[in-house]
Amino acid sequence: MTDTDESYDFDLFVIGAGSGGVRAARMSAQHGARVAVAEQQYLGGTCVNVGCVPKKLFVYAASFHHEFTSAVGFGWQVPPASFDWSVLRDNKNTEIARLNGIYANLLDNAGVKLFSARAVIEGPHEVLVDGQKITCRYILVCTGGQPYVPDFPGSEHVITSDQAFFLDELPEVITVVGGGYISVEFAGIFNGLGVETHLVYRGPLFLKQFDQDLRSNLAEQMQEKGIHLHFDTDINSILKQGDSLVSTLSDGSSLDSRLIMYATGRKPNVESLGLEKTAVRIDDRGAVVVDDKFQTDEPSIYAIGDVIGRVELTPVAIQEGMILAANLFDNGDAIMDYDFIPTAVFSQPNLGTVGYTEQQARELFGKVEIYRSKFSPLKETLGGGADKILMKLIVDTETDRVVGCHMLGEGAGEIIQGLAVAIKAGATKSDFDATVGIHPSAAEEFVTMRVPI
Ligand code: NDP
Repeated sequence: MTDTDESYDFDLFVIGAGSGGVRAARMSAQHGARVAVAEQQYLGGTCVNVGCVPKKLFVYAASFHHEFTSAVGFGWQVPPASFDWSVLRDNKNTEIARLNGIYANLLDNAGVKLFSARAVIEGPHEVLVDGQKITCRYILVCTGGQPYVPDFPGSEHVITSDQAFFLDELPEVITVVGGGYISVEFAGIFNGLGVETHLVYRGPLFLKQFDQDLRSNLAEQMQEKGIHLHFDTDINSILKQGDSLVSTLSDGSSLDSRLIMYATGRKPNVESLGLEKTAVRIDDRGAVVVDDKFQTDEPSIYAIGDVIGRVELTPVAIQEGMILAANLFDNGDAIMDYDFIPTAVFSQPNLGTVGYTEQQARELFGKVEIYRSKFSPLKETLGGGADKILMKLIVDTETDRVVGCHMLGEGAGEIIQGLAVAIKAGATKSDFDATVGIHPSAAEEFVTMRVPI
């Protein structure tokens, strides 16, 4: 049990009920703290409402396109398939509303007081919410982030992923801008749902933090699926002409679309929070500055999740929330370990990764061994699709430790999650070699690669 301080209304006041905030609130309450949460919009934050969860549902929807075609080779007679966007969108909305309810129950069952309103910080130990001044021993800021769109002529005509989840109808042609997770995932979604899809990215090849080999293979496979990739290209301006949006590109050419979605990064939500009434510092990217215990320059105020701009991933925010709750209310003294965080881009096919890319490992370790395998999945032999699987293991020659594990292919997110436990635990290539495969599976290839390239 924690030592609660009855001179305050609450021990912890959490601003923002996203993945990190909800977990921090629940865990703190379980450790015996008296906790309140304020959420001005929807429970579950970006991930549940306009991020991971609805995105993954859309990825499933888009993948049926390929399944219908493959089914023919397995003997199925499939009548021409048609797709109804409104059914997908509305079913998704129903499911998200169900999840919002589950989040409310989780907080309620944990004894956390929920304010469905905006909270503003009044001082180091005080917030204003629902017209009430509330005192608290600690404040936790986990207000997340929001899409960033650069300012340029015609930028008022574009949407972001926030709106893409609720479109009235699908456009005939879409341009998606950016080379990060969101643009790549949404390009796959729109293309799979039958929209002519263009991806415009200012760099030479998207997903620059991932292994070069997998990036270029993904680009090839996306092109084979019909996505138009425009690399080394930016949009200079957009003109609305009737129902068309005409983009003038940096090479002087123009591109017509019905909808343009910008996925050019996200910025932390720190506006009008009252932070100026405290010693909390904001860095030049707009993120709240915290130390390795998530404490801001105002000792009673902490921050976690996207608002601190470290690693913008839901499971990271959740882990940060659990560590903080234990540190504040359960005599914990842990520091978040950001090494070997697995991650996946739910592109088509998926790209999953943990550890260092080949390029990073060469710089960091000097001598590395690269194990690489590229093959057609068994399913495609009858399915007739062109999808390929690419797997790579990066091994530090000196220690034999596997320091990078990468996969492009169906199920990569699932497979890499499992392997991430081994990689995080320090598995060596000999450990991989000593592991028996599951046959026939794609994942067995990770334990049967013997000859470095
Ligand atoms: P990212 O930071 O991943 O990518 C932003 C992209 O926009 C980069 O390619 C960047 O280019 C480009 N860009 C930035 N500014 C401009 C500009 N002014 N003009 C043109 N292009 C620009 O952001 P996302 O919006 O895709 O996603 C936000 C975060 O959300 C991700 O970083 C990720 O952490 C998280 N996320 C995770 C997912 C998952 O786990 N599957 C799914 C979706 C999001 P450059 O590369 O040249 O810098």
